[in-house]
Amino acid sequence: MSSVTEYLNYIDGKYTGGDSVEFTDVINPANSRTVFKVAKGTEADVDRAVQSAKQTLESGVWSGKTPEERANVLMNAAMLIFLNKDKLANLESVTSGGTIRRTSTVDIAITAATFYMTALTLKELPRVEHAMCPPWIVPVHSYWKREPVGVCAGITPWNYPMILAAWKIAPALAMGNSIVVKPASTTPVTTLEMAGLLRMAGLPAGVFNVVCGPGGAVGERLVTHPDVDKVAFTGSTEVGRRIARLASDSIKRVTLELGGKSPLIILDDADMDLAVNVSLFAFLLNSGQVCESGTRLFVPRHRQQELAERMVEKIKKLTIGDQLDMATDLGPIANAMQLDTIVNYVETAQKEGAELFYGGQRLTGGDYGRGFFFTPTIFINCRNDMTIAREEIFGPVQCVIPYDDVDEAVAMANETIYGLGAGICGKNVAETQKLAARLRAGTVWINTWHMLRPDAPFGGYKQSGLGRENCYHALLNYSEVKHICQDLTPGADDKFFNPLIGLNK
Ligand code: NAD
Repeated sequence: MSSVTEYLNYIDGKYTGGDSVEFTDVINPANSRTVFKVAKGTEADVDRAVQSAKQTLESGVWSGKTPEERANVLMNAAMLIFLNKDKLANLESVTSGGTIRRTSTVDIAITAATFYMTALTLKELPRVEHAMCPPWIVPVHSYWKREPVGVCAGITPWNYPMILAAWKIAPALAMGNSIVVKPASTTPVTTLEMAGLLRMAGLPAGVFNVVCGPGGAVGERLVTHPDVDKVAFTGSTEVGRRIARLASDSIKRVTLELGGKSPLIILDDADMDLAVNVSLFAFLLNSGQVCESGTRLFVPRHRQQELAERMVEKIKKLTIGDQLDMATDLGPIANAMQLDTIVNYVETAQKEGAELFYGGQRLTGGDYGRGFFFTPTIFINCRNDMTIAREEIFGPVQCVIPYDDVDEAVAMANETIYGLGAGICGKNVAETQKLAARLRAGTVWINTWHMLRPDAPFGGYKQSGLGRENCYHALLNYSEVKHICQDLTPGADDKFFNPLIGLNK
C-alpha cells in the first residue's frame, strides 16, 4: 500500500473518485520525490461537476441567499484559512517550490484577505439602482440589479496556486455563482483543501467543485461545456488565446490573466541602494516565476555597470535551497519543464549576443541533488528586440537594457505585446508620476514591486489579459446586469406606444 497521501476530486460536496481512478504523481521540486497522488479527472468528472454546479445554481441554495449571508460564509472562509495556515503553507511550498517564509506569511494573508475583502466589498456594492420617468412621457419605474453570471469555470496555473484560485472563487461566490475550478496538475492540493474549508465555512454542497487533470482534456471540456457561462483563466498568453477562441463559440464571458515582460525604469536620480533592492525583488521573488516580474531593467547607460555589480554582491549572499527551510531565500524552479525552458532561454540569449554578467547555470550536486535549482542570472547590454527581452522566461533571469534618454526608455518599455506590470525608481515624485501615466500596463509600481492588494484591481493591458481581478472590478466581472422596467400607467389607452404604430385608432 502506498504511504503517499492520495487526493480525490471534489464534486457535489464530496471528495470523490472511487478505486478505479488513475492518479497523477505530485512531486516536490526540491528533490523530485513524489509527495502526493492526485486523482486525474476526466471529461465525465467535469460533466458531473458542472451538472452539480448548475443544479445548485438553479435551486437558489446559494444564488438565492442575501449578500449578507454570502458575505458571512466568505468571512468564515477567511478565518478557516488562517486557522489552517500551517498546513496550507506547507502544502503550497512542497508542491510549488515557493519558500515557506513567503507562503506562511504573504500567501496565507493574501488568500484569507481575498475572501475577507471580497465580503466587505460585496456588502458595499449597490444592490439596485433606479431611474424614474424621464425620458419617458408616462410614469415609468426602472431599476437594475446584479445577478450571477451562472456556472463559472476557474483555470489556474502552478506558480501561486492558492492565491490565484482564491481570486476566482471569492468573487464568483460573492455574486451568487457556482464554480468549478481546474488547478494546474502539479499544484492542485491547496485548491482541493480549500474546497473542504469552504464547505466547513457554510457553503452548500455543489456550489464549489474541483476537478484536477490535464489542460487539454479537463480544461478544454470546461471551456467548451454548454452549461458553463463564464471562464476565468490565469496562465500563459498562448493558452489564453486558445481559451478565448474556444469560449467565443458560445459567447461565454471570459476573463484572462496572462503573461508579462514587465519593464522597470531606473531614473538617473534614483537612489542606488533602493534601485538595487527593487531590481532584485522585481525578478527574484518566487525564483522569477511571477507573471508581473520586472524582467526588463532599463538603466541609464553610465549606471549599468555599477547597478549590475551591486546586484551581484547581494545575489551572492542569498540562500538558495529547500523551500521548506525558513532560512531559504530562493526555492527551486517549480518543475522540470520550466527549468528546461529557462536553460533554453539562457542559451538563446548568449547566441543573440546578450552579455552574461552573472549566473546562467543550473545548480547541481550536493544538496541540490535531484532538485530543479537555477542561479539568479543577469544579462547586461541587452537590446529590447532580443528574444530574452521580448518573451516571458518565467525564471530568475534579469535582462538589463541601457538607455540614453528617458523618452527612449519609455518607448522601449511600451514596445512589447504585454502590459501587466511596470515600474519606476526615482526621487522626483512629480517626474515618476508623469512617467507612470505614460506606461501601458495594468499596474505601475514606483520605488517598489509586487505590491498586490485584494482591494485594488489587478490585470493586464494588451496581450497580458482581459478584465480585472480583485475589488469591486472582480464583482462586476462575475455578474450580469438586469434592467427591469415597469410602465406604471394602468390602462391600454394610456400606453405611450399607441400613437407610434396606430394603436389609438
Ligand atoms: P499554462 O497556460 O500552461 O496553464 C495554466 C492552466 O491552464 C493549467 O491549469 C493548465 O492545465 C491549463 N491548460 C493548459 N492548456 C489548456 C487548454 N488547452 N485548455 C484549458 N486549460 C488549459 O500556464 P502555467 O505554465 O501553469 O503558468 C505559467 C503562466 O501563467 C505564465 O505565462 C504566467 O505569466 C502566467 N500567469 C499569469 C498570472 C496573471 O495574473 N496574469 C498569474 C500567474 C501566472
